[in-house]
Amino acid sequence: MRFGKVQARKFGTNIGAYSVVTDREFIDSQITLTDYEAELVIDHFGLGYIHVGNVQSNPHLASKVLRLYPNGQLIHLNIVFPKPDKTELRLYISSRAGFKPNGGEIWFMFLKDGDIWVGAMTEEEWRIESSELKRDYFDSIYQESLDETNKIRISKLKERDAYARDRNVAIERMKLSNFSCEYDPRHGLFISRFCGMPYLEAHHLIPIGLQGDFRESLDTVHNVFCLCPNCHRAVHHAEKYLARSILSSLACSRDVLDRFSLSVDDLFSLYAIEEIV
Ligand SMILES: [Zn+2]
Ligand SMILES: [Zn+2]
Repeated sequence: MRFGKVQARKFGTNIGAYSVVTDREFIDSQITLTDYEAELVIDHFGLGYIHVGNVQSNPHLASKVLRLYPNGQLIHLNIVFPKPDKTELRLYISSRAGFKPNGGEIWFMFLKDGDIWVGAMTEEEWRIESSELKRDYFDSIYQESLDETNKIRISKLKERDAYARDRNVAIERMKLSNFSCEYDPRHGLFISRFCGMPYLEAHHLIPIGLQGDFRESLDTVHNVFCLCPNCHRAVHHAEKYLARSILSSLACSRDVLDRFSLSVDDLFSLYAIEEIV
């Protein structure tokens, strides 16, 4: 799978790919590169410089220099086309050579500063690292600012929401929703003792932390959804299937993704809840 926006930002390049190491690949100590991974390797080394045949028939040409993530150590791994028809490109993984990810781990490869880097981590680590939402330390400040009136300031905060979200946009969205949860209007809401209205939280479907990647503002009534506290926490913390179901339902209820040329799968990848194959 190609790097999405979050991986591009994390690794400082959008030329990269990731996939799951299968148990078979671990046992056989070889990974068959998928279309995009193969393209990346061929572009980098040049088709004529990749050995065709088994490693032993030309160990020198089979051996390729790569950098290991994160410390950048140079390692040598064998990459070959095992068969003359060049339909399959194979990477040999080896503990001795310094790279032997376990079955079930996510391995990744990316091009940066003229080198191909490889690395691996557990799926949990990968998803935590890849979730744009984890970067939003200011979300609670923002939510508190929504639960106040111009008369009552409950959060005399020294800190400011780093993303400068406009509370008026969220309040407008709440009015448009008739003060109900936009995932399911039947969800019960308590009345806030601060603002005297049904308590809702505001969530930016395309995370506000990605504003730098878009020209149009993400802080609009199109991208903001008001949710009951349970649905909002679920979007941030629930198991993948539930988070996906809420997010896809929200995405389908407005044309916000089209405006930003994103698919539902792109959206899932921003939340690190995509299906990794
Ligand atoms: Zn949120
Ligand atoms: Zn709800």
